[in-house]
Amino acid sequence: MELKYKRTNVYKVADENEIKAIVDYSEGYKKFLDKSKTERETVSTTVEMAEKAGYKPYVLGAKVKAGDKLYYNNRGKALFLIKVGSENLEENGIRILVAHVDSPRLDLKQVPLFEKADIAYLKTHYYGGIKKYQWLTIPLALHGVVMLADGSKVNVKIGDEPGDPYFYITDLLPHLAQDQASQTVSKAFNAENLNIIIAGSPLRDDEDDAVKTHALKLLNEKYGITEEDFLSAEIEAVPAINSNDVGLDRSFIGGYGHDDRVCAYPEITATLNTETTQTVLTILADKEEIGSEGNTGMQCILIKDIIDELSVAMKADPIRVRAASKCLSADVTTAYDPNFANVFEENNVAYAGHGVAMNKFTGARGKSGSNDASAEYIGFLRQAFAKDGVIWQTGELGKVDIGGGGTVAKFLANYNIDTVDLGVPVLSMHAPYELIHKADVYSAHKAFAAFIK
Ligand code: MN
Ligand code: MN
Repeated sequence: MELKYKRTNVYKVADENEIKAIVDYSEGYKKFLDKSKTERETVSTTVEMAEKAGYKPYVLGAKVKAGDKLYYNNRGKALFLIKVGSENLEENGIRILVAHVDSPRLDLKQVPLFEKADIAYLKTHYYGGIKKYQWLTIPLALHGVVMLADGSKVNVKIGDEPGDPYFYITDLLPHLAQDQASQTVSKAFNAENLNIIIAGSPLRDDEDDAVKTHALKLLNEKYGITEEDFLSAEIEAVPAINSNDVGLDRSFIGGYGHDDRVCAYPEITATLNTETTQTVLTILADKEEIGSEGNTGMQCILIKDIIDELSVAMKADPIRVRAASKCLSADVTTAYDPNFANVFEENNVAYAGHGVAMNKFTGARGKSGSNDASAEYIGFLRQAFAKDGVIWQTGELGKVDIGGGGTVAKFLANYNIDTVDLGVPVLSMHAPYELIHKADVYSAHKAFAAFIK
């Protein structure tokens, strides 16, 4: 019997086959990430994967039977994968996996275009918790949808294809930054200055704002849109850079939106590829970064509606099904960062490369705003993970009273469902280019597979 507890470095114990599995799995993840830079794109990429695996669209109220593989696409921004199992729903409940597919970014305002000093700009309103300065001087792409006056929908995507132009937000040269450097970070970077350069040459025969007119003409040629069409558009500026291996040993993956696609992807692969008799509900949610509000977020009653409709269709009492259900709220947590060691408590933070991390609780101060999972539920998961050789660790966000954060766990728990947070540790969380360890995303896949078995 081992008396002492110590975290396990995955690579220290993995054999050759396991390391190959980690590396191969990471290749799939990188492709997924590059195709899925927005919540809409993540949903459409996942629908593609699900359809390939035999999943069919689900309609609320439809008849279902054991063996059915279904998906419910909520407004193109959130997705439910439903795998109906043969176990008794009132006794076993549903195994629920939740991740979110929105990431911090810059949204265009509804009247975004203006011209100043013969440069055309787009005004933005940031989405989620960003450090504003990180979005300056990096290559940006524009992704989104525009509803035209005639009711048709146009998909916009510029900046990611080879040969595409980038977009760009400027920063002040250090030579003139004496004043800026003496300010606090929150004062030095003004959200109203996060204006994206989109054009710099005038239409020759035009009047005032000829650069803006030029930009509009180019947009009109490519997408058939006019300035008024921005009123009914959702366009997101995201980093134009794709994911890539980081480090000589290629053990890390750098990329945009690991939070939380690094949990969404293992949820999807575990759901699509695991043989199980359980009923599995896998949720890809929108709006987590702004509080899970709205009808595509996890506070929407649709989550309960779907569980209840499934229960009724399977001739089970929804109240009993929810009481017997179990959930993993799969969201990223921070990895220990020696560069900023003072914010972490070293015994109780997750470490990159040491497996998927469980946050028993999140919140701030005295665990305020947190779902604090029970010892009994964690005990259940410990056994399930041990049985399948899942390497996992525990992790609190930071030192007590130094900050905090929340996840969607509490919204599931509110439906009387046992829930705990389990996700991949991330370095530089919420930066335009975040870092994760390959061993950890694969460990997440193994954990989710073990959970739904
Ligand atoms: Mn997250
Ligand atoms: Mn986040």
